[in-house]
Amino acid sequence: MKKSALITELKGVGEKTQKLYAKLNIKTVGDLLADYPRDYETFAEPVDIAQARLEEPAAVYAAVTGILSEKRAGRLHILNMNAADNSGSLTLTFYNMPFLKKTLKRGGFYIFRGTVRRRGNTGIMEQPKIYSPEDYRKLTSRLIPRYSLTKGLTNQAVQKCVKQVLSLYDFGTEYYNQTILKKNDLISEREALETIHFPADYDSLIQARRRIVFDEFFSFLFLMRKNREFCEQLSNSHPMMETADTVRFLEKLPFPLTKAQEKVWSEIKADLSSPCCMNRLIQGDVGSGKTILAVLALLMTAANGYQGALMAPTEVLAMQHYETIMEYVRKCGLIFRPVLLVGSMSSKEKKEAYGQIASGEANLIIGTHALIQEKVQYASLALVVTDEQHRFGVRQREHLAGKGDTPHILVMSATPIPRTLAIILYGDLHISVIDEMPANRLPVKNCVVGTAYRPTAYKFIAGEVGKGRQVYVICPQIEGEEEDTEGSPALENVVDYTEKLKSALPSGIQVAFLHGKMRPSDKNQIMEEFAARSIDVLVSTTVIEVGINVPNATVMMVENAERFGLAQLHQLRGRVGRGKHQSYCIFVSSSEKKETMERLEILNKSNDGFFIASQDLKLRGPGDLFGIRQSGEFSFRIGDIYSDASILKQASDTVDELLRKDPELEQPENALLRVHLTETAADSVDFRTL
Ligand code: ADP
Ligand code: MG
Repeated sequence: MKKSALITELKGVGEKTQKLYAKLNIKTVGDLLADYPRDYETFAEPVDIAQARLEEPAAVYAAVTGILSEKRAGRLHILNMNAADNSGSLTLTFYNMPFLKKTLKRGGFYIFRGTVRRRGNTGIMEQPKIYSPEDYRKLTSRLIPRYSLTKGLTNQAVQKCVKQVLSLYDFGTEYYNQTILKKNDLISEREALETIHFPADYDSLIQARRRIVFDEFFSFLFLMRKNREFCEQLSNSHPMMETADTVRFLEKLPFPLTKAQEKVWSEIKADLSSPCCMNRLIQGDVGSGKTILAVLALLMTAANGYQGALMAPTEVLAMQHYETIMEYVRKCGLIFRPVLLVGSMSSKEKKEAYGQIASGEANLIIGTHALIQEKVQYASLALVVTDEQHRFGVRQREHLAGKGDTPHILVMSATPIPRTLAIILYGDLHISVIDEMPANRLPVKNCVVGTAYRPTAYKFIAGEVGKGRQVYVICPQIEGEEEDTEGSPALENVVDYTEKLKSALPSGIQVAFLHGKMRPSDKNQIMEEFAARSIDVLVSTTVIEVGINVPNATVMMVENAERFGLAQLHQLRGRVGRGKHQSYCIFVSSSEKKETMERLEILNKSNDGFFIASQDLKLRGPGDLFGIRQSGEFSFRIGDIYSDASILKQASDTVDELLRKDPELEQPENALLRVHLTETAADSVDFRTL
């Protein structure tokens, strides 16, 4: 079986299951193999009740000593039972499981597994899972993979499917040569994949993960270095001169550029008129004002009679850029003739746009990666700006180059990374840093709270909406999952939370939701309504993490904040505090573990993305490698540029050495690697699709 085989070729996967997997973006056997577990569940040996640590999953071996109470609250049936061992006793609370009264025998010993909390003077375990000692023994000493799920698809079902794939899959021969394998201490791809899904123990899991992360970094860096070679030879086929247009635009802006913006603007101007093709990255924290620089560069391009393109990772963001620029056109009389190009447009609209692009009638094209589709022919494309995403691969560039002369490239990113990493990751670009915020910004006020704070937060939100402001609420999931995972409480999800908020907030407040699996046209509509203030509270996944600019929004509330990396929370925070009003961030943690709260408190102490990311790294142990992502901007599947920095360095050194010894991979020992990289390159058109 090959990577490209459809999952319907697996036993037990019919049309219905196929649809469920499609929701998770899993279509082929290869997708399933690369759907690495979200995290792993460990079943530790049972402990004495007195030893069980609060707020953590624990198993106890205890006898049922009786029913404490049984009551109804609306449709909910609540059963409290008492369990005890030699060290102490514990209240077990079960919801809607009245039958347990009969099945759990008084005096019988069972293993109960759940999170121990304190209620008054007693410890309680809500909705624990119940095992016989024999069944439980089978689970201990193993790491059970937990996959991302969707309603109707259980963790067990995914496990079964992955097992089947691993047994049928044709792994082929190792593609790294022996030197690379030895020097980097890599296990085989096969072993890595088998282990990452079904690890025997923690040590081998770390090894497996290392190999997979190495692979991700290696192919990314290899292609990037190749890209650099390609770009360094490029001369400027679209030389430009500064015109009065940009000068006049700057005069009409309601604010002066910051010193940092001015410096970057002069670097861009110099690039565009130099003998070489521009290849520049603008790195600046959220809110530092990158958009205006893009507009200036595009304006200079248009003024010189060329076309420019502005590409965004999501349709929502592309639409927003379009609106912003249209506003400038209206207010400042800019010479732009913009056209929008996004996937959700009708084919008639698209065709019209293609026509205007091909004829040169449009001199500014704004859109998502639909832009680079085959059908688009540019009259004179001279500049491509990409916002909030770096992976502008060789392919995309070659593709655009194939449509005429090579355009200048300007990449904008808000990912805070230290200089040493930037040199590796952005090796193919010149780097400009905006290290200064526009003046007169009120710093965002933060608080880190537990779930008990919610009623207060809702009152606060209602108050802000009353003042005419708007609010974001972020949940980690889109919809409720099958509840067959245990140990950690269910995560908040956008769909249910929206309903919850609607009933918790006064009825005049408009609440709506947004997530990445909605139809693009629906997403756009919601974003437009939010921008137009007809929606007050927007419940969303991290779709809005990137780039959204609604200065009237003043509250960012993040549920299950403990599930996010600090750098990502910082990005989310950047969505507020963009206007003249005081803004607030409420990070709600559903775990009140000391370490979690400490980690989140860092956000209270700093507004500096670099600092936050580095502190987060210090506080996290190896066990946190799974489950928490720092930033989605580099679309590595599991590699994390922060916590895997040492693997990144190794991969980088390996690529350098390989390029020195065998740059075209012509030696027989690198033949398979060459094939592998060619295949990887084919799908490295790797935009951050949502
Ligand atoms: P980001 O760098 O996160 O993309 P934006 O470009 O969206 O930030 O800018 C955030 C906000 O700051 C926008 O509303 C923009 O108009 C405003 N802004 C940009 N530059 C300045 C400046 N020099 N002075 C004041 N406000 C500015
Ligand atoms: Mg931006």
